[in-house]
Amino acid sequence: MARLQEFVLRRPESIEEAVGQLAAEPEARVISGGTALIANLRLGLGSPAALISLERVSGMDRIEVSAKEMRFGAGVTVARLATDDAVRAKLPALAAAALTVAGPSHRSVATIGGNLCLDTRCVYYNQNETWRSSNGYCLKYRGDICHVAPQGKRCHAAYSGDLAPVLLVLQAGIAVAGAAGVRRMPLAGLYQEDGAHHLTLAQGEFVSEVSVPLPAAGMRVAYRKARVRGAIDFPLAGVAMALRMSEGRVAELHVALTGTNSQPMLLTGTEECRGASVDEALADKVGKLVQRQASPQRTTVTTSNYRRQVATAYARRLILELAAAN
Ligand SMILES: Cc1cc2nc3c(=O)[nH]c(=O)nc-3n(C[C@H](O)[C@H](O)[C@H](O)COP(=O)(O)OP(=O)(O)OC[C@H]3O[C@@H](n4cnc5c(N)ncnc54)[C@H](O)[C@@H]3O)c2cc1C
Ligand code: SF4
Repeated sequence: MARLQEFVLRRPESIEEAVGQLAAEPEARVISGGTALIANLRLGLGSPAALISLERVSGMDRIEVSAKEMRFGAGVTVARLATDDAVRAKLPALAAAALTVAGPSHRSVATIGGNLCLDTRCVYYNQNETWRSSNGYCLKYRGDICHVAPQGKRCHAAYSGDLAPVLLVLQAGIAVAGAAGVRRMPLAGLYQEDGAHHLTLAQGEFVSEVSVPLPAAGMRVAYRKARVRGAIDFPLAGVAMALRMSEGRVAELHVALTGTNSQPMLLTGTEECRGASVDEALADKVGKLVQRQASPQRTTVTTSNYRRQVATAYARRLILELAAAN
């Protein structure tokens, strides 16, 4: 890895101060735990003159529980998500997913906000400057051609965070702070299918809070990820599922993917499973939804077909397992 370029580190103490600093320095980047951003900067992926740290911003580390929901400041660490008693009791799938993120030292500083806003990844992008320049760069950064899909006009780099799919099936919302104040929206609205611009945040905006409605009684939620190294690795493909059964039939089903597309995505068409009993035929139907909507490209060391197949297999298994647990 190369030496980090010089930058100024600003440490605002309130959301308003952070918003003001981002407005004054449009080229500045937000930094939370820095576990992903610093690694990218050391590869030469960006050279911001200033980093605006959210670490000291008041309220960013709070976890609140009410009768209806849990709210997390965007600076809550992934380690706390994995170990907090209330999260483990009320949102156990989120705690379990948090435990699969990176390694223990990363999790101790990595944040929920940074995880949701993780940059997309590609085998042609997450490389050092010498490697990328000798390949003529690519259109995600400094170049004008995509090595994965040379005929195309967009980047297919994959979003590979582990928390987003679980939060999507739990129907989480986020608060976004910016010059116009704080706006709220469903988490799904944070993303779009473009690996070079996968976040819908406007310049100067950042995620300040994540809210998660408490699941309805009987809702079972789980997350499964495939990775090259079991101890520490990004998901090659990850599947989250929330299933509620009523009288032996599907009452509610949500499925979300990570690692396969430029955005973490909720599958469409799952409402067609309502009223069905869970058997091999329904597992096949859910598997087909994954096959059709997952769009893995050649952005990792594994083939795109492997990632599609593993996501399909995980979705099939999850629905059978969650139904059996009901
Ligand atoms: C070896 C290694 C293994 C890893 N394995 C995994 C893994 O298995 N699963 C996984 O999900 N991740 C993994 N990661 C990536 C990273 O550690 C986690 O995703 C982490 O949660 C990122 O959070 P952070 O607070 O450190 O983000 P940062 O590094 O601070 O920021 C990440 C990005 O989000 C932006 N950002 C940060 N906070 C906000 C905010 N509040 N609003 C808007 N934008 C923001 C930053 O500008 C940056 O672009 C791995 C990283 C490494 C180095
Ligand atoms: S998908 Fe194409 S444009 Fe995007 S990072 Fe990979 S090579 Fe670059």
